Amino acid sequence: MDLNFTPEELGFRQMVRDWVATHLPDDIRHKVLNALRLSKDDMQRWARILGAQGWLGYGWPKQFGGPGWNAVQKHLFEEECALAGAPRIVPFGPVMVAPVIMAFGSPEQQQRFLPGIASGDVWWSQGYSEPGSGSDLASVKTRAERVHDNSGDHYLVNGQKTWTTLGQHGDWIFCLVRTSNEGKPQTGISFLLVDMKSPGVSVRPIITLDGEHEVNEVFFDNVKVPAENLIGEENKGWTYAKHLLAHERTNIADVNRAKRELERLKRIAKAEGVYEDVRLRDQIALLEVDIVALEMLVLRVLSAEKSGKQSLDIAGLLKIRGSEIQQRYTELMMLAAGPYSLPFIHEAMEAGWQGDHVGAAHCAPLASVYFNTRKTTIYGGSNEVQRNIVSQTVLGA
Ligand SMILES: Cc1cc2nc3c(=O)[nH]c(=O)nc-3n(C[C@H](O)[C@H](O)[C@H](O)COP(=O)(O)OP(=O)(O)OC[C@H]3O[C@@H](n4cnc5c(N)ncnc54)[C@H](O)[C@@H]3O)c2cc1C
Repeated sequence: MDLNFTPEELGFRQMVRDWVATHLPDDIRHKVLNALRLSKDDMQRWARILGAQGWLGYGWPKQFGGPGWNAVQKHLFEEECALAGAPRIVPFGPVMVAPVIMAFGSPEQQQRFLPGIASGDVWWSQGYSEPGSGSDLASVKTRAERVHDNSGDHYLVNGQKTWTTLGQHGDWIFCLVRTSNEGKPQTGISFLLVDMKSPGVSVRPIITLDGEHEVNEVFFDNVKVPAENLIGEENKGWTYAKHLLAHERTNIADVNRAKRELERLKRIAKAEGVYEDVRLRDQIALLEVDIVALEMLVLRVLSAEKSGKQSLDIAGLLKIRGSEIQQRYTELMMLAAGPYSLPFIHEAMEAGWQGDHVGAAHCAPLASVYFNTRKTTIYGGSNEVQRNIVSQTVLGA
């Protein structure tokens, strides 16, 4: 196993680094490097800049308008973007639904939906979870009934999704819907693309622990969805859903962001005069070791793919370790800032906020970010459930 990058790969890294340095807007970089609030405009502006370069769908094959990069190139691109302070790509379009449309959608659906995702113009949301159907996703109840009438062939959708991340901005939502109650729950699910501007779709905010509006409830009340928006075959949606979840869990590990945030932790500890504190140094060192170990795990996956061996089936493991690491660095930042991290000031998340409380501006967003990252061990499949999956893979069912 060779974990070193080749000269060509290092050249590719430099090319991406130079491009990001000249194209990432300074105001967005400033917000990301200081963990400040990103607006819809910030996220979409960066998406469109990447889209114009053909890099928003950086994991896509050339056939669908992507750059056709291999696994190492994708990793290097993600790393360079994260370290430079670029926002995380909102994954629902380019990372989640696009691979499903490529693998299972019709040529018409590919032509219709992929260009808007690749350019960053169309905002997608993920409609999987429902009240009572999170870990037990196969129990989804949102009903889609096929109706042929004089207005055409369509589905009538009724039900509710929840925890829909950034659904307040959504143009489209991909949904798991129940089309049959026959047989096992998994066999009656379909994968439907719904225009969120359709009559009968309503979005209600959920305000989370950090005081932010990041997630939503989405209601469907007799929503008419053209039958041509069904992906693949009716009642085969579970297969397509699983294809997507593997992408989601690997994406959540986000080792590159962890490397960037480790540096921010060190900056905060230095600014607060506690960087030399032996106990804090111990904690930071342990965190750094775990981040390096996670990176090695990612590189092992890349090395296996490069040498043509079967890819390691460790998406769940990456999700568990990556999410725990995200929580730990936000905890250590709080620890480093001590009482200065406590004020919970909503406005402090805006760029340019100065405030008048005791303590430096870099401390002000810490509480909000700390509360926000409690989500990481829950979403994308909770860590308890991931542990079940990993143990089944290792020990057998
Ligand atoms: C911030 C945030 C954003 C999200 N964004 C989206 C989104 O955009 N789209 C979307 O569709 N969903 C989204 N989700 C939903 C997310 O996928 C679910 O919250 C997650 O799958 C857990 O489901 P649940 O909340 O229903 O908890 P439950 O499934 O009710 O679980 C409750 C607890 O029981 C544990 N548990 C459940 N089953 C088992 C088991 N078999 N063995 C051991 N322990 C178990 C869980 O680990 C958890 O601790 C988001 C969630 C959060 C918090």
